[in-house]
Amino acid sequence: METKAFLVVDDDPAERSILADTIKVAFPGADVRQMGDPDRVLGLIGECDFDCVLMDYNMPQMDGLALAKALRALSPYLALVMVTGVGDETLAADAVRSGVSDYIPKSRINPDAVRRALSRAIHENELAHTIAEQRKELESFAYALAHDFKQPIRQIRTFTKLIENELKPGDNQEMQQHLTFLSEAARRLGNLVDVMAQYTLLSKVPQLGEVDLAKVICEVRDAVAAFIAERRGELAVGELPKIRGNQTLMIQVIQNLIVNGMIYNKSRVPRVEISGDVQDSRCLIAVRDNGIGIESEYLTEIFTPLKRLHPSSEFPGTGLGLTLARKAVVQQGGRIWCKSEVGKGTTFYVDCEYWQPKVELRAAV
Ligand code: ADP
Repeated sequence: METKAFLVVDDDPAERSILADTIKVAFPGADVRQMGDPDRVLGLIGECDFDCVLMDYNMPQMDGLALAKALRALSPYLALVMVTGVGDETLAADAVRSGVSDYIPKSRINPDAVRRALSRAIHENELAHTIAEQRKELESFAYALAHDFKQPIRQIRTFTKLIENELKPGDNQEMQQHLTFLSEAARRLGNLVDVMAQYTLLSKVPQLGEVDLAKVICEVRDAVAAFIAERRGELAVGELPKIRGNQTLMIQVIQNLIVNGMIYNKSRVPRVEISGDVQDSRCLIAVRDNGIGIESEYLTEIFTPLKRLHPSSEFPGTGLGLTLARKAVVQQGGRIWCKSEVGKGTTFYVDCEYWQPKVELRAAV
C-alpha cells in the first residue's frame, strides 16, 4: 500500500497529538504532520503533497470552515476532514455541504472510525479528480469531432457523388464500384463520428439510486438469450448485491461485457460468469470469460475510442463498446479495468458503490 501523508491542524497540542497518534495506528507507516497555527497551513499545502488534511472545527485564529474553504480554493481535490466537538455536528454538516469531505466527532476518534472516514474521503476525492480530468479531455475531443471531422467527411461524400454523376451508365464499371465503396466507407465513418460525438457530448450526470444487480442481470439475460443460444454459450450468475448507480447504465455496461465475453471467444462452450463481492462501502463486480484473452499491453487501451484488436472480418464491432461502458461506470462514480491471460480468458472488474440507504450527512461511526 502506498504511504499516505496527513496533516492535522488543531490549536490544542494534546488533542492534535491524540489524533495524529490514532492516524498512525490506522495507517501504519503514514507520514503524519501536525500544525497548531491554521494561518501557516496554506503555505505548507503548496510545498507538500498531502492526501488528507484534518482540521479542528473550533480554532481561535481561523475556524475550520474558513480554513477548509481556503484549502478547497487552493487544492480542489484534497480530502478535507473536519474534527468536531460536542454540539458542532449541525455546523459540521453545513461544512460537508460546502465542500468538506466528511467529519469525525472527537468522541469517536478511534483507529477504525478514522481509517474508514479518511479512506473514504481520499477515495472520493481521487474519483472526483479522475472524473474532472476525463470530462476535460472529453470536451476537447467532442469539439474536435464536431468541428474538424465532419466537414472533410461531408466533402468526400459530395465529391464522390459528383464523380458518380459524371460517369454515364455503363462507363467504367470498375470505377463505379470503387466509388460505391468510397461512398459507403464515408457513410460509415460519418456514423462513427456521430456516435462518438454523441458519446462525448452526452455528459449529463445520471440520476443515481438503488440498483439491484440481480434485476439488472435478469434484463440482460432476456436481451442476450438468443445471442448466447446461437453460440451454444453459458452464462453463470453468482451472488449479486445492490449497488448505488443507474439501472439503465448498468444494464448497458453488463450487457456489453457479457456480449464481448461471448464474441471474443473460441472455446467450444463460450462461458461468461458474473458475480459481485462487497467490501466495506464498495462492490466489486467481476465478469469472467473463457475467451481468447487480451495481451497485457492492450489492457487499458481497449477502453479508448475505436481501439480494436482484431479486424472486422474476424470479429465484428465498432471499437466503442468498452469506451461507452467506461463512461457509464465513471458517471456512476466507479472504475472499470480488466485482467487477462491470452488463450485462457479475461475478467473485467467494475468497482462501484455498495447500496446503503442514503444517509445525507455522514458521521464516522
Ligand atoms: P468492439 O467489441 O465493438 O470492437 P469494444 O470497445 O467493446 O469494441 O472492445 C474493444 C476491443 O477490445 C475489441 O475489439 C476486442 O479486440 C477487445 N475485447 C473486448 N472485450 C474482450 C474480451 N472479453 N476478450 C478479448 N478481447 C476483448
